[in-house]
Amino acid sequence: MSIQWFPGHMNAAKKKAEESMADTDVVIEVLDARLPEASCNPLVERMRVFRQRPCLKILNKSDLADPVATALWASYYNAQDNVTAYPMTTKKPSDVARIVTLCKQLAPHRGVPTKPLRIMIMGIPNVGKSTLMNALLKRRVAKVGDEPAVTKTQQRIYLDQHTVLIDTPGLMWPKIDMDSDGLMLAASHAIGSNALIEEEVAVFLAEVLLERYPNLLAARYGLKTEGMDGVAVVEGVGMKRGFRVKGGDLDFEKSAHVLLHDYRSGALGRISLETPQSRAERLARHAAEMQEKAERAAAIAAAKAEEAARGKRGS
Ligand code: GDP
Repeated sequence: MSIQWFPGHMNAAKKKAEESMADTDVVIEVLDARLPEASCNPLVERMRVFRQRPCLKILNKSDLADPVATALWASYYNAQDNVTAYPMTTKKPSDVARIVTLCKQLAPHRGVPTKPLRIMIMGIPNVGKSTLMNALLKRRVAKVGDEPAVTKTQQRIYLDQHTVLIDTPGLMWPKIDMDSDGLMLAASHAIGSNALIEEEVAVFLAEVLLERYPNLLAARYGLKTEGMDGVAVVEGVGMKRGFRVKGGDLDFEKSAHVLLHDYRSGALGRISLETPQSRAERLARHAAEMQEKAERAAAIAAAKAEEAARGKRGS
């Protein structure tokens, strides 16, 4: 299965983002702390690096993520040029309060009345951009000049006299390269999925949990996970909860739904779906698969060409 994203106004949004980025001093990229790289929009990252804009990478929803994995991700991003990582949750006003200060540190030459610090917030859907924006606006101490009230069409919002937020539309990428990214995003509800795919997403989640958090499965559902695979875990959840369809068979769909819900709400515990190391391993596997595919395609093309040449010689 491959989860694809079909953006409605991709090109218009991209153009708008490019324009906004030209007028921006610091890009805030909101990521989901549970799956930071899978929730990163490569297009935004490319644009940002091209424009050489510093970036505050917010690892949001860190209240739901595994703190050990989050610390590894913070080191990973902090090692990058022009990047500060900031694990936080929009639920904590004190976390939100630090954002402007961190942005100022990334662009120390800005932030005076003649040169206000211009900040832009980017990120894929459901990572918490609106919540963050609202939290920042609530803290707003001053409205400057003739700025109109905040409306949907507003382009610039002053957070204080020296800091302005550039409003940008959400932006997604044209294609999710790795199936596992699509599955992680669906598990975390960044992209929608229908009931059929939900079952596949739940099995994928169960496999990650088996590998990294079997103790959480044992604690919540009383499962003895040894020897289990993803399907068995989902079935196990249903059996423990007594989810049956008419006729007595296990209700796999409901079991899948409950597992996903428990992960999404944090009821299962603090879980990260990837670490810098697991990401590197997945990327290497993906590259090897792509290479194999290309070699297979080349071999088929060569065989066809040979066959065609033989046909010609024979005729
Ligand atoms: P947007 O699509 O990026 O604007 O995301 P929203 O701001 O609409 O947030 C998506 C969902 O994530 C909402 O249900 C928020 O309540 C939730 N959310 C946002 N920030 C956090 C956070 O730090 N922790 C948790 N647990 N949930 C959050």
